[in-house]
Amino acid sequence: MLALPVRAADGAITVKALEAQPKIPAEFARMTYPQRIEWLELQLASTTDPVRRYQLVSERAMQQYFQGNSAGTLADCRRVAPAAFDLRYRLACASTGDGDLKGHAHELLEIHADAIKAGDIDLATKALSSAAWAQSELGDIAGAFQSYEQALKLAGKALPETLIDVTLNTATLYVVHGDREYVNKGIALQEDAIARFRAMKKQYPGDADYFDSVITLTQFNAGVAHALHLQDYARALRWLGEMDPRQTEFRQGALVFSALSAAELGRTAQAREWLRQSRETPASAETDTAYLACYQQLVQLKLDGQAKLAPCRDLSPKTPLEVSLDLYKRLAILPHPDWRLVGLDGLHRLFVQTLEPQLKQSAMRGASRAELSRLQLESKLVGQLLEKEQALKRAEQDKLATQRLLAVAAVAILLLVLLVIVLRLRHNRKLARQFLSMSLEDGLTGLRNRRYFEHNVGREIGLVKRACHEGAAHSIVFCLFDIDHFKRINDQHGHEAGDRVLVEFARRIQGAIRDTDMLVRWGGEEFLLVARVAHAGEACRIGDRIRAAVSSAPFVLAGGASLDVTCTSGIVPYPRMESGEAADIPWQRLVQLADAAMYLGKRKGRDGWVCIDRLPDIGALDRILAQDLEVSLREGLVELSDSSQTSARAGAA
Ligand code: GH3
Ligand code: MG
Ligand code: MG
Repeated sequence: MLALPVRAADGAITVKALEAQPKIPAEFARMTYPQRIEWLELQLASTTDPVRRYQLVSERAMQQYFQGNSAGTLADCRRVAPAAFDLRYRLACASTGDGDLKGHAHELLEIHADAIKAGDIDLATKALSSAAWAQSELGDIAGAFQSYEQALKLAGKALPETLIDVTLNTATLYVVHGDREYVNKGIALQEDAIARFRAMKKQYPGDADYFDSVITLTQFNAGVAHALHLQDYARALRWLGEMDPRQTEFRQGALVFSALSAAELGRTAQAREWLRQSRETPASAETDTAYLACYQQLVQLKLDGQAKLAPCRDLSPKTPLEVSLDLYKRLAILPHPDWRLVGLDGLHRLFVQTLEPQLKQSAMRGASRAELSRLQLESKLVGQLLEKEQALKRAEQDKLATQRLLAVAAVAILLLVLLVIVLRLRHNRKLARQFLSMSLEDGLTGLRNRRYFEHNVGREIGLVKRACHEGAAHSIVFCLFDIDHFKRINDQHGHEAGDRVLVEFARRIQGAIRDTDMLVRWGGEEFLLVARVAHAGEACRIGDRIRAAVSSAPFVLAGGASLDVTCTSGIVPYPRMESGEAADIPWQRLVQLADAAMYLGKRKGRDGWVCIDRLPDIGALDRILAQDLEVSLREGLVELSDSSQTSARAGAA
C-alpha cells in the first residue's frame, strides 16, 4: 500500500510565495494535453526553485488528474506533496486511489471541511462526493449515504459539472446499495443527469463526444440497474436499446444484459441473437467485465438447458459486489444442483466476507433506516439461502456416505469372493491330497497298495546299489506271501468274515516288521514286503517272523468262532548275498521270482516259506522264470532254502 503524500513538507510553500511566482500564461488554456505536459516539463527543466517547482509539478498533477492518468497524478503527488491550503491539489491527490481507501476517505472529509471554511462550495461538494465513493468502497454504506445526501444538498450551489458528477455518483450508490425505494431514486437521478447532459451537449457542441460517452454510460447503468436490481427487464431493454452503438466501451455489456432481459421475458429468438452478437463483440479494454461470461452461460442455460458452469465458478475477485450478488442469487435458484451449489457457496462467501461486516458496521454507526432494512432483508435472504445450502450440503454428504457404504460393500463382497476362492482352492487341495493318498492306500486294510510300491521300490533298490558301491553290507528282501486256502474262509464264513481276516492279518504282519520295511497289499489275499536286512541269514528269519505273527493265535470272527490262519511266503534277497554285487535286475523280475518261490511253497504243503538263496547264473533268469522252479533247482540254476529245513534245524537244535 502506498502512503498518502506528506502535506506541505516545505514551509517555503505559502499562498504568498506562490502568488509571487510568474503566472501560467493564457495560451496554456488553449494547448492540447500533450502540449501542456511538454510546456510544464520544459519549465521544470530550467528551475531548481522549490516554490516554482511546486507550482509546475502540482499543475502537471492536475492536468494528469483531469486526463484520468492516475499513475502520473500519484507520481507527482508523491514527488511534491500538496500544501495544506492547496485544496485543489489535495483533492486531486486524495481522489486518486492507490489502495489506502481509509486514509483517502479521511483526507477527503478533511478537505471538505477545509473547503467549507474557505467558502469553496464546489470543491467541498467534490471532496464530499469522492469521500462518499471511498466510504462505499470501504463497505461503510451508511457513511456513504450520509455523505452523498449532504453532497447533493451542497451540489445545488456548486458548478454544473460538479452537480452532474455528484448526481451520477449518488445515483450509482442508491442503485447498487439501496433498497427498492432508493434504486428508483437512483434511476430518477440518472434520468435527471441524462437530461442535463443533453442540454450541456447543445451548449458545448465542441465536447459532444464527451457528453455522448457519459450519456451512454448513464443509460447503460440505468439499464443494468433495472435488470439487476429491479428485475424490470422491459425497462432494462428500453434503456439498453437507447445506448449509442458507436460507444464500444459498454457494447458487450449492453448486449449481454439485453440477451439476459430478452431471455427473462421469454423472447428467445431475440435473446439468442443478442447472445451471438455479444460473443462476437470484443470485451471492454478499460473495465474488468469477465463476469459477463457467466451471464452469457446463464442465458445459454435458459435457452438450451445446458451451458458451462466454469465462468460462474471462477468469478474474478474484481467483480463488483452488486454483480456477484446478483449472479449468485440467480445461480442459487436454478434447478441444476451443481449450479445451485456454486450460487449458494458464493452467497455464503459474500455474506461472510462483505455483507456481515457491513451489517455490523452499519449497526454500530446508526445507519439510515433504509440502509438497515435493506441489509436486514439481505441477511434474511442470505440466512434462508444458507439454510438451503446446508440442506443441500447434507444431501451431498448423505450421497457421499451412501457412496462410501457402497464402496465398503463392494470391497467386502470382493473379499468374500476371494475368501470363497481361497477356501475352495484349499478344499480342492485337500481333496486332491485325499485322492492321492486314496490311490496309494488300500481301502480295506489301510496298508499301502501296489501303486505305492511301484512309486517307491526304486528308492529301496537305489539305496542297496549305493551301499554296494560303498562296500556296505546292505541288502533288501522281497517277500511275497499269500493266505492259505482263503477261498475256504470266504466260503465257510462269508465274504465279510474274509474281510475281517484280511484286516487282522495285515495288522499282525505290521506288528512283526520294522518301520523302515515296506509292506503293501499286492492284491486279493496276497501281500508284498520289502525289508532291509543286514545279512543273508535274516532273509529266512523274515519268513519265520511272518509265519509266527500269523499263527501265534487263532483269528476270532464276529460270531465268536475262532479260526486258524496260515500263509505261505516266497522270499528273494537282493542282491545275491555271496557275490555282494547289485546286479541290474528289474524289480518286476524279483517279484516274479518271489512269486515262483511262493508257488513252490504252496506245493510243498503251505504254512511255510521258500527262499531263493542264489542265482549262480544271472543270464539264466528268463529261463528260470519260464519254467518250474524245481526244474531250475535240478538244473542248478537256483539255490533254495525253505522253512522245513529251518524247522528241521530248529527241531534238531
Ligand atoms: P491258496 O492260496 O492257498 O492256494 O488257496 P486260496 O483259496 O487262497 O486260493 P485263491 O487265490 O484261488 O483264492 C483267493 C480268494 O480270495 C479268491 C477271492 O474271492 C478271495 N478274495 C480276494 N480278495 C478278497 C477280499 O478283498 N475280500 C474277501 N473276503 N475275499 C477276497
Ligand atoms: Mg491264497
Ligand atoms: Mg491268492
